[in-house]
Amino acid sequence: MKVLWCWRCQMEIPMLDEEEFAEAYRLYHNMFGPGKGKIEERAQPLLDFYEKLTGFEETNANAIMHHRISLYGPPCENCGKPYRTPKASFCAACGNKRLT
Ligand SMILES: [Zn+2]
Ligand SMILES: [Zn+2]
Repeated sequence: MKVLWCWRCQMEIPMLDEEEFAEAYRLYHNMFGPGKGKIEERAQPLLDFYEKLTGFEETNANAIMHHRISLYGPPCENCGKPYRTPKASFCAACGNKRLT
């Protein structure tokens, strides 16, 4: 887990590493599997997992699915915000050209 700037949410938010994300994805997947209950209730195991891990009380299960460190690329050398994607050639936040 690492707190990073999310350009979609326009805030700093705890993001998951690959191992943590794998478990989150499994719980997310379970929401849509066979069984009963409202989607809000079925999202609870995922929201609980995320809160336990990060201390952040998330209410939107879908938001967790884009809070994955590997989606955002490395931090910008200039402003420290992630490059948005691993392949970005410049920083969308400050315009800094990425060093390769
Ligand atoms: Zn976000
Ligand atoms: Zn930047």
